[in-house]
Amino acid sequence: MCGIVGYIGNSQCFPILIKGLHRLEYRGYDSAGVAIIDAENQLKLCKSRGKVAELESFCQSKDVSGTIGIAHTRWATHGEPNDTNAHPHVSADGNIAIVHNGTIENYNVLKRALMKHGCEFKSETDTEVLVQLIQYIKQNNSCTLVEAVTESLGQVVGAYAIAVVDRNTPGTIIAARKSSPLVIGIGDDATYLASDATPIIDYTDKVVYLNDDEIAIIKKDEPLRVITTDNKPSNIDIQTLKLSVSQLEKGGYPHFMLKEIFEQPSTIEDSIRGRVVNNRIELSGVNLNRSKFVDAERIIIVACGTSWHAGLIGKRLMQDFARVPVSVEYASEFRYSNPVISSRDIVIAISQSGETADTLAAITLAKKMGAFVYGICNAVGSSIARATDSGTYIHVGPEIGVASTKAFTGQVTVLAMLALAIDPGTVEQLSKDIEALPSLIKETLKLNSTIENLSSTYTYVHNFLYLGRGYNYPSALEGALKLKEISYIHAEGYPAAEMKHGPIALIDHELPTVVIAPNDDLHDKIISNIQQVKARGGSVIAIVTKGDKAIKEIADHTLEIPKVAECLSPIIVSLPLQLLAYHIAIKKGCNVDMPRNLAKSVTVE
Ligand code: GLU
Repeated sequence: MCGIVGYIGNSQCFPILIKGLHRLEYRGYDSAGVAIIDAENQLKLCKSRGKVAELESFCQSKDVSGTIGIAHTRWATHGEPNDTNAHPHVSADGNIAIVHNGTIENYNVLKRALMKHGCEFKSETDTEVLVQLIQYIKQNNSCTLVEAVTESLGQVVGAYAIAVVDRNTPGTIIAARKSSPLVIGIGDDATYLASDATPIIDYTDKVVYLNDDEIAIIKKDEPLRVITTDNKPSNIDIQTLKLSVSQLEKGGYPHFMLKEIFEQPSTIEDSIRGRVVNNRIELSGVNLNRSKFVDAERIIIVACGTSWHAGLIGKRLMQDFARVPVSVEYASEFRYSNPVISSRDIVIAISQSGETADTLAAITLAKKMGAFVYGICNAVGSSIARATDSGTYIHVGPEIGVASTKAFTGQVTVLAMLALAIDPGTVEQLSKDIEALPSLIKETLKLNSTIENLSSTYTYVHNFLYLGRGYNYPSALEGALKLKEISYIHAEGYPAAEMKHGPIALIDHELPTVVIAPNDDLHDKIISNIQQVKARGGSVIAIVTKGDKAIKEIADHTLEIPKVAECLSPIIVSLPLQLLAYHIAIKKGCNVDMPRNLAKSVTVE
């Protein structure tokens, strides 16, 4: 959600900032802007509503020279997306510019106080309050920029990642974070700043992840300095990125989403690599904390969106194999639900980006209450990866498409391995089934052209129902979510047997139903559910196991997947569901990689 880029060095910063903003586009945004300090210490500002490409052409006639700059893509929280509310925001004296990701919760109190001192505001944003406060403190206390930023942040309640430049503090960018990510790239003769590593990887693989309540003082010709908001020096831990530029490009596919769908044979191979050993599952996070898992009375999974759906599958897996009671909570609800947690509980937090604000807050709460917290993330070095006691990376590589695909299958694969790893016995057949996943995925992806053709029939429907049972009830939820996210078609997922308690009222010839019906213990039951839809004139697209004649006879369309262990079937059925959503959205002319209003990394509440 929103993006920050910063550069300080000897090169012209504008092209670097713009390229960085393009890299961060996948996170979701509605406006963009840059602030540059030039050789004469003049502050140049360009910002506009709309895409980075529009900002780029808007700046073509402007002087954007300078070697120090900060840039931003905004995902509006306070005030509509327009030119004035776009970042950077500048202090009333025109000297200090700020970009901000997050929300200042007490902005109104601060704003009223500043207005009493004669401060005037141009925008509706919470961010402008912070830059005016910094200016006010700097002026009134006759202090340095760092001191003014530190003092201001002490007055702020909320979440932020910020970057600040000041005409009167030459050669300097100040950056700080609390609950919103910031990464600093250390180059040979330049320093970079960004919300994630994707804008940095072109220039350096040496990075420092800023921690909560830290302030970085980035100077042109001096080593990086980091202090805490209570003014103590912080340790600088330089890490090496394991990211390559090719992972951030479309590689010949028309969209990142399609690329990421087709990457799944290899991403699942990466998730599994080194973790299936001699018919056992070896996860270092579990091995190192075996007593925690053995003694656990309960597992609570906290997550949001697609990760929450993966969590529901994880619940079944852990109940079936580890025989531990599991509950799955929306992180946003959990954090405010006064939960009962003890030191015998394990909280598993799932998040692709590792930056999801609600999940991070749930982790903080769970840790405070004594639980052992285990993270399942994709982004290496992310806030959740660092905030949890232990965890497992899904290792599916950067996911750029906003609608999660390969991260979902990676999460479910890791959850399956986690469930099996908790019980340290040999799991010969299931180990083999897990190892077979990449080739089953490859085979399933051959459905692509069938699904592309099928999607023409359903491009202009207004509603969809998704049904599944057991392990594939969460698949129904995920299939529906995928469709609504990228095609804007209303879709609901339901446990198939629940249909008769309500959604059956919706069924007519205009409402297609996707039924997830692989050969499993509940196969006969789901055939009855399909009959109930057909009896009411509804059309049915069924996802079935290859050779299923019974469903082929009654469904309007069948999509055949290879035979797979029931507990791993959500991984395989998710592929036709992803492809169906993708092709319908493309036929409707939607922007599948950047659907409206959505953000990839949800760093605000
Ligand atoms: N709250 C700020 C605004 O509305 C920043 C939003 C963002 O994270 O982009 O301008």
